[in-house]
Amino acid sequence: MNILVINCGSSSLKYQLIDMNGEEVLAIGLVERIGIEGSRIKHDTTGKERYIIEEPMKDHRKALELVLNAIVDEEHGAISSLDEIGAVGHRVVHGGEDFSGSIIIDENVMEALEKNVELAPLHNPPNIIGINACKELMPNIQMVAVFDTAFHQTIPAENYIYALPFEYYEKYKVRKYGFHGTSHKYVSQRAAEMTGKDIKDLKIVTCHLGNGSSITAVDGGESIDTSMGFTPLEGLAMGTRCGDMDPAIIPFIMEKENMSIEEVNKMLNKKSGVLGISGVSSDFRDLDEADEQGNERATLALNLFANRVKKYIAAYAAQMGGIDVLVFTAGLGENSPSMRERICKGLECLGATIDKELNNVRGKDTIISNESSKVKIMVIPTNEELMIARDTLELVSNR
Ligand code: ADP
Repeated sequence: MNILVINCGSSSLKYQLIDMNGEEVLAIGLVERIGIEGSRIKHDTTGKERYIIEEPMKDHRKALELVLNAIVDEEHGAISSLDEIGAVGHRVVHGGEDFSGSIIIDENVMEALEKNVELAPLHNPPNIIGINACKELMPNIQMVAVFDTAFHQTIPAENYIYALPFEYYEKYKVRKYGFHGTSHKYVSQRAAEMTGKDIKDLKIVTCHLGNGSSITAVDGGESIDTSMGFTPLEGLAMGTRCGDMDPAIIPFIMEKENMSIEEVNKMLNKKSGVLGISGVSSDFRDLDEADEQGNERATLALNLFANRVKKYIAAYAAQMGGIDVLVFTAGLGENSPSMRERICKGLECLGATIDKELNNVRGKDTIISNESSKVKIMVIPTNEELMIARDTLELVSNR
């Protein structure tokens, strides 16, 4: 069966068409600047030249219409008719407490998604728009929602409740939800495959390190704690997000700088993290370069970032009573030997020893710990689209 995977952002749309017999990508594409001047689609069908469409796209429906045309285009397309699409899998950011797994989309699901907009005001609305556009254009096709938060619904209350008056959880559902769940799930399953053991017998820490970063403790295949929280702001320092800090700093700075709620939110989400510390960039490649040229604040940002990751790894090892596998994934985790080395320095005390030679790898499934390391350290490129397609196939096949 061919599955179309859709990931709708506020002005973008990413898609992949995957043939699940063999899990082969047939077509992949990105739509940018939806609703803004200069809309365009970059469409790649496997084995064919890139197809660029530059045409006004006033909304996601129009964008999707052009995407579907591209997919079945005689010259540039991957299939000859939309009937060859068996189901659509949608990435949805926030499922709140309503969804602990992926689900076939029906009216009740749509209602629950609307309800959860409050928890993810920037992310859920474009996801809902994408689903509605697909419903209009492919009314008879089954669709599945796959949530970033669902994998973390197994986290126990002592790890998801904040030490605030309990009424805020009861009234407003203020609690840790966690994100990047599809990625943490995919790499933990792949890690188990690579060890040849049943995931039920493994204690895994997965480090998704990209522009946004999070770490998860996966015990016996279930997430039992994760570093992002009520929103993606908590946890590690990130490209531009502050991560953990003393919350009293917020009213202090708001008063000193006469900031509004909107301004302080922007500062914490967009101007902080390694960008805020270094003043150089949110991109770790730029920081590496500045570090090599002796920029002390870039070095500080890199060391601070690595230390945060290290603290979480050790904390999660303690929570699970050990660690068998440590996984690095996403842009930075997959591609930066130097950051992996910085993070692993000191983890020898937990039995995790990196092999310098093996660590010199980018973007492919590899074990990078040395022979004597008790903990298997791995690089595993994440594949959220494939995970979404697998969940979609499983649900529609069981119907
Ligand atoms: P997103 O969270 O936006 O999905 P990605 O997972 O694609 O991000 O990660 C993007 C980040 O990965 C970039 O900001 C960059 O800092 C980092 N990165 C990518 N390639 C490298 C590399 N070769 N060396 C260091 N960092 C890299």
